[in-house]
Amino acid sequence: MTLSHLRSHHDFTTHDARPARDSTTVVIAGRPGAGKGTQAEMLASRFGFAHVSTGDLVRDATSRSTQLRAELESTMAAGGLVPDRTILELLVDELAQLWPTRGVLLDGFPRTLAQARAFETLRSVDLVIELDVPARRIIERLRARGRSDDTIAAIEARLHVYERETRPMLHAFDARGALLTIDGDRAPELVTADLFEAMAVHRPLRRSQAHARRP
Ligand code: AMP
Repeated sequence: MTLSHLRSHHDFTTHDARPARDSTTVVIAGRPGAGKGTQAEMLASRFGFAHVSTGDLVRDATSRSTQLRAELESTMAAGGLVPDRTILELLVDELAQLWPTRGVLLDGFPRTLAQARAFETLRSVDLVIELDVPARRIIERLRARGRSDDTIAAIEARLHVYERETRPMLHAFDARGALLTIDGDRAPELVTADLFEAMAVHRPLRRSQAHARRP
């Protein structure tokens, strides 16, 4: 689903910036360096979501625990995925502090079908937004960012993992009408404007669907 598809079905012109309801769970996906973190911050502050980045949770955890650092540092440096069990433990701990008071915006999670399935035994995902930036542009962006896991070999590994592990998960959300793809290869403020519009359109849509389903 694209934004113009969403627009053509729903004629909303004003942004609904009410705080995200308790149960709302939105996922922001995209290749590494697609702008997930920046855009997630904008969405979270506009709509009142708690922004949870599993990359940040892993970096915090490895800075606190020498054992975890020893276990995970080489995986992260090589651009691989941290084991599902570790990610889920970190995430569940974090979410326990946030629910049931706020809607959640997940940044960088789930990244695999297995993670999505495990997560959805706890909480269903309402919407997945993929920021689409072509791989060749990602390489330019990440080299400019210069984080310690942004070496060329690690970038290529992460792009490969995205296609192999994350793409099938996106297809699964798409099959149930829960994936929205937004062109992320533009000025950040244009991407933000589309995201705000998407949320504004999507949320009244959900409310009316919930209403329709009520017996
Ligand atoms: P990020 O900041 O999202 O690019 O994440 C940095 C690194 O943390 C990734 O390259 C992975 O090694 C690890 N990581 C973050 N989120 C996940 C996840 N959902 N599953 C597995 N590994 C993750």
